[in-house]
Amino acid sequence: MKKRIILTVLILFLFITPLFSWSAHKEMTEIILKQFPWLQKYNKIKVTPYTYTDNSLYNPSYAITYRGEKIGDEISAITIITRYVEEPDKGMDENINISSMQKLTGGSSGWRHMYFITFQGLWILGEAPKRALHFWNLAREAFMKGDYYWGFRFFAYSLHYLQDVSMPFHAYPMPLKNVVLGIFNLDKLISQGENHHYTLEDYQEYQIKNGNPKYIKVLKEAKPLEVKNPEESAKKAAWISRDFMGELWNLQVKYYGPDINNKKNFKADPKLFSFENYSPLREEYDNIILQALEFCAGWTKGYIIFLKDFLDKMEEIK
Ligand SMILES: [Zn+2]
Repeated sequence: MKKRIILTVLILFLFITPLFSWSAHKEMTEIILKQFPWLQKYNKIKVTPYTYTDNSLYNPSYAITYRGEKIGDEISAITIITRYVEEPDKGMDENINISSMQKLTGGSSGWRHMYFITFQGLWILGEAPKRALHFWNLAREAFMKGDYYWGFRFFAYSLHYLQDVSMPFHAYPMPLKNVVLGIFNLDKLISQGENHHYTLEDYQEYQIKNGNPKYIKVLKEAKPLEVKNPEESAKKAAWISRDFMGELWNLQVKYYGPDINNKKNFKADPKLFSFENYSPLREEYDNIILQALEFCAGWTKGYIIFLKDFLDKMEEIK
């Protein structure tokens, strides 16, 4: 009975979960790619038309677009990866019917970009790891036929999903305690979830885009995590990131004050973002975000190394 109540509560909660994500995939990836000089060897990649059969579902109104380059142009691998690592957030996964459970993750896009591990893995919602593998398979196909443009572009899509699941809210939406306490006031629960999500996103984006040295240092110094299979790594990434969610939530309540839980459309005081304003609590808040971000950077680096190994082997055979 108890389990059933919790399940119902969880279903109700998940139903209203908005889409969470790391912000600034592009800026973070740009900083990380600078550490891989071998990528610069691929600086004259010919832009090619799309010639692939992808039977997975796409948003019917999503069209393949070249975001700056034209077919026939030459472009660097670094530009392709940074330009397209955000592509999966640009509508391709919206408005489709993938799973009867997709409502629980906020729709089809949520389903594709999340991997909610609930009940210690007994109930999983979302397919981000599967998507990471899907685009890796397409990348491999493209590279093998010599189409490096689409190879790097599909790789960037795949990387997006791996990075997504390293964001704690992608792996677990909200402390269960809050769901249970708030279940009789759904409106409030919705705004709590949204407030925590947008505030973390705004805060992290501000730190990266304004070059907070602590954040840049973590992105640069994170040790690569071994990737042998993008799907398996994405699953592992989600298991790790989900553990940060509870503490992150609690620290946000302390750092921004109770309004983050009580006020609709809460907006944080911009002074709290500025990195001149350090305090022990701020330090704690940064530390937890940075721990999660270190994993995000570590997976990204591991995946770049995985790509290098693949390309080296493939080019050796040729
Ligand atoms: Zn995403």
